[in-house]
Amino acid sequence: MSIEVKNLNYVYMKDTPFEKKALNDVSFKINDGEFIGLIGHTGSGKSTLIQHMNGLLKPESGQILVDGEDISSKKIKLSDIRKKVGLIFQYPEYQLFEETVEKDIAFGPKNLGLSDDEIDKRVRRAMDLVELPFERFKDLSPFELSGGEKRKVSIAGIVAMEPKVLILDEPTAGLDPKSRMNILDNINKLHKEYKNTIILVSHNIDDIAEFSDRVLIMENGKNILFDTPINVFKNVELLQSIGLDVPQTILLIRELIKNNFDIDDNIFKLEDVVCAIKLQLGK
Ligand code: ADP
Repeated sequence: MSIEVKNLNYVYMKDTPFEKKALNDVSFKINDGEFIGLIGHTGSGKSTLIQHMNGLLKPESGQILVDGEDISSKKIKLSDIRKKVGLIFQYPEYQLFEETVEKDIAFGPKNLGLSDDEIDKRVRRAMDLVELPFERFKDLSPFELSGGEKRKVSIAGIVAMEPKVLILDEPTAGLDPKSRMNILDNINKLHKEYKNTIILVSHNIDDIAEFSDRVLIMENGKNILFDTPINVFKNVELLQSIGLDVPQTILLIRELIKNNFDIDDNIFKLEDVVCAIKLQLGK
């Protein structure tokens, strides 16, 4: 399930004094099964872009091809796109509404017209993936849960629809560090288990650095970089000039190299950097 965006343009409130060009000739291709990190600061166009990918917004001009099919074409039903492309909005827990956790997670699969057995299997599997033990949580009201648990219920609800492409908009926003790591680990586990394509939107560089195969940087409605994490993070001056952080390890390696330390500048994960320093020091 590849996603190809071609020369995509989008304008809010066209022909009014508030007209805003939110996407400006955006083109890129995401391959089947990739884990993509999408970064940019507030207002750079991330939400507008991902809403095009599941058909919620229609391009002003340009195309979005999901598995080669142009989803802005009139022939394609939106319900079919949404079976393939699941979008989890920011603070998804505000959309919980059923009286039990189990019913809430089953809502999406039910709408797909699946059998009761299949729905039950999917609900259990989704709860397992987000680490909500089925027996303990199934009959609870979503409103009795902690913030992190509510978030997991809403993620499980989309996961249970088993979309081939899963887009998550700031899935860790507002969570404490422990819940944040837990949600990210679950997303990564999910990616490994279902081998689906993931697009993780965040302005937290560390979230993105840890898991992404490639990183897409948005700035002022344009995709200015799209490459492997290391190739993106090496653009320290560019990233800093648009107000984005770079991983601290990248700055550390630069400093070490300046001081004649012989260290590979193609690494950025903390454990790899620690290993390389130890090696240099002969430890
Ligand atoms: P991000 O998700 O990166 O914060 P958005 O896609 O939400 O960026 O916004 C891109 C630009 O479009 C911003 O300038 C924003 O103010 C504007 N924008 C977003 N949504 C609307 C809307 N519904 N009406 C008018 N302008 C909007």
